[in-house]
Amino acid sequence: MTSRVPLMAGNWKMNLNHQEAVVLVQKLAWTLSDKRHDYAKVEVVVCPPFTDLRSVQTLVDGDRLSIGYAAQDVSTHDEGAYTGEVSAAMLAKLGCSYVVVGHSERREYHAESDETVNVKAHKALAAGMTPIVCVGEGLEVRKAGEHVAHTLAQVDGSLAGFTAGQVGDLVVAYEPVWAIGTGEVATPEDAQEVCAAIRAQIREVHGDGAADGVRILYGGSVKAANVGGIMAKDDVDGCLVGGASLQVDEFSGICRFY
Ligand code: PEP
Repeated sequence: MTSRVPLMAGNWKMNLNHQEAVVLVQKLAWTLSDKRHDYAKVEVVVCPPFTDLRSVQTLVDGDRLSIGYAAQDVSTHDEGAYTGEVSAAMLAKLGCSYVVVGHSERREYHAESDETVNVKAHKALAAGMTPIVCVGEGLEVRKAGEHVAHTLAQVDGSLAGFTAGQVGDLVVAYEPVWAIGTGEVATPEDAQEVCAAIRAQIREVHGDGAADGVRILYGGSVKAANVGGIMAKDDVDGCLVGGASLQVDEFSGICRFY
């Protein structure tokens, strides 16, 4: 554990329509209001599909819920003839505090490069939101023992052009692709190895302030049952949670990692 505020972000992916989203956020808020637990020491964020964001905003604002919300992606463009795209300004207007960029499913299915991820991260920050920049290696790279070098190269490319002060406010999510949605969770030591290497590289390139401020999440089959060991590691500041974030009991259990 560190002095950085732990962040638990639930990536719903392409699940739940806007009505189901409202039900899940209401249930989550109810669970997080249980005074027997100190949920206040964790920042809780949900990442619904674009179509749910307005409904989530209305609920969060109306009931003054202490749940943040994020978009799962953002356009590299500001506005104009880009059919199907959603701009950073539109997401900021909806009250999103974070935007996930470079998720492995975007990198794989939409061929997003580090350059694209970098542009998206800059667009998000310029619009007043915090990018959650995803990095991580596939199974072949892990088997070849090149996971640290591979991930650090992604960090380098994805964070290009940010000032030290900006890097200190960013969130980086280390998500080994082989552990996403597979039930194959990395060991706490695996997570720490790469998260520590990311922080060391940021320290070298951007200095102490950036390295001590940046929050580095682990993602990949995190559940209430395994979160404790992962969060006990010094350089892990939170988790990006996929499947388990769709179940309120699991996700609130993850938020109760301490
Ligand atoms: C994710 O999609 O970012 C993720 C980590 O998924 P899961 O928790 O389901 O492995």
